[in-house]
Amino acid sequence: MSVSLDILIEEKIFGKKPCVFRNTGMISGIMLFFECEHKDSRNCYPSNLEAINLIPKYSEDISHAWKIVEKMQEKGYNFSCQQNIHNIKIWSLAEFSKDHKMTYASGDYKCLAEEICKAALYTIQTEEEN
Ligand SMILES: [Zn+2]
Repeated sequence: MSVSLDILIEEKIFGKKPCVFRNTGMISGIMLFFECEHKDSRNCYPSNLEAINLIPKYSEDISHAWKIVEKMQEKGYNFSCQQNIHNIKIWSLAEFSKDHKMTYASGDYKCLAEEICKAALYTIQTEEEN
């Protein structure tokens, strides 16, 4: 849904740095291969438009969003999510908690992945402020 949200996740949750990823010239079928200048690119995410699609779509794909949940659990957070019907609308809510502190994000049902992104970012932001 939102590339800028996905980028924030790469930076704030996974601690990655922006990097230019260039096409290596290798093509296998329809796959293009991209590389940055670093030997270990696990800590980099592509900042150039040409390779921006390599950033996982955390905010719209629940299988990618789940990696955020796993990362937050590694940091000691509990995760829960709910769906509620309110005023004929279905709402989803994602929540992280640790040491009796809790942060959450809620919104439209279809966007649980997006709510996970927002809740994780609020949580990390709150952690940094304290
Ligand atoms: Zn790099």
